[in-house]
Amino acid sequence: MFGKRLTLFKLLGFEVRIDLSWIIILVLVVWSLATGLFPHYNPGLIRSAYWWMGVLGALGLFGSIVVHELCHSLVARRFGLPMRGITLFIFGGVAEMHEEPPSPKAEFFMAIAGPLASIAIGAIGFAVVGLGRGFALGATTIGVIQYLAGINLILAAFNLVPAFPLDGGRVLRAGLWQWKKNLRWATRVASGIGSGFGLFLIFFGILSFVFGSFIGGIWWFLIGMFLRSASQSSYQHMLVRRMLQGEPVRRFMKQPAITVKPDTTVEDFVDRYVYHHHYKMFPVAENGARPRCVTTRDVKDLDRGEWSNRTVGDIAKPCTNENTLRTDTDAVEALAAMRRSGNSRFVVLDENGSLAGILTVKDLLQFLSMKLDLEEGVAGKDIEKFVGT
Ligand SMILES: [Zn+2]
Repeated sequence: MFGKRLTLFKLLGFEVRIDLSWIIILVLVVWSLATGLFPHYNPGLIRSAYWWMGVLGALGLFGSIVVHELCHSLVARRFGLPMRGITLFIFGGVAEMHEEPPSPKAEFFMAIAGPLASIAIGAIGFAVVGLGRGFALGATTIGVIQYLAGINLILAAFNLVPAFPLDGGRVLRAGLWQWKKNLRWATRVASGIGSGFGLFLIFFGILSFVFGSFIGGIWWFLIGMFLRSASQSSYQHMLVRRMLQGEPVRRFMKQPAITVKPDTTVEDFVDRYVYHHHYKMFPVAENGARPRCVTTRDVKDLDRGEWSNRTVGDIAKPCTNENTLRTDTDAVEALAAMRRSGNSRFVVLDENGSLAGILTVKDLLQFLSMKLDLEEGVAGKDIEKFVGT
């Protein structure tokens, strides 16, 4: 259910999507409003009225979160950051940003825009409620607006906790970044606080659960877990990106690559190459021409009886984008390509399209590990969690 998204509509150039997990939240919100909150604060209405109020309240909450995220995105766009859209998921909304903000100032305004929008909605809501009483707005309408005003202020307050990657944590990071001119240090401090706050919510959730608030307890526990992992991984991703950025693939590829001659029989290929080196893909050396690739999948497609009378040249296929990189490809891009394709070995071609070497995930991780160790003092064994493999 996580990761399955549905695009709803486009707003001011941003796609608004919901993760399917949000539908659970919508149902939970409608239910708890209609059976708990509205009957408590607005007694004496008929049952169906509470359900209508529940639906309107949930839709209003949805709209409020979209406005909050939209304000982040609009400011980001003003600062020239490409934004992919807004996704609502189980813990709220995310304005999808794929680059670090260009300056502390940009980060500050981007981060603060969302909570300010929520505060504005809350203030307008309470003003309408105040005026509405005078204009004899119905009790149901007032009940819904009051709820939305309150929930927006709570949303703003929660988001302003200085726990990275919450908005307040981004504001804090912007301040630290401005102060010491060091994004890495600022991110480390802000995400440390984020991780600590996550731990606090986890304990708070457990205590609430033990003392009888089951749903609330589970909820805080989950938000705490989510925040903790989000703060840790955002720091790690920033570090990995900084270490790999600007490092071309040629710096850590293996050369010369082990190649297979096209006239090798498939049987020989399996015995002398696959079982010997334990790789799933080999480039096929062909004089002058762009190399082709032979994989264990190509071997599997061939009848076992054919192995001795067919050659690698017969079954090799042109190398594709899925398993080819160029010597000048940036390491960040190479890592993304490895993740996307799920392949662990890539053929590296030089600018003329001829074979320059082979790059494996292991080579890339070793290089990263060495750099992290030398420049950041991070132990090599922690490397997997850094790249999320
Ligand atoms: Zn926000």
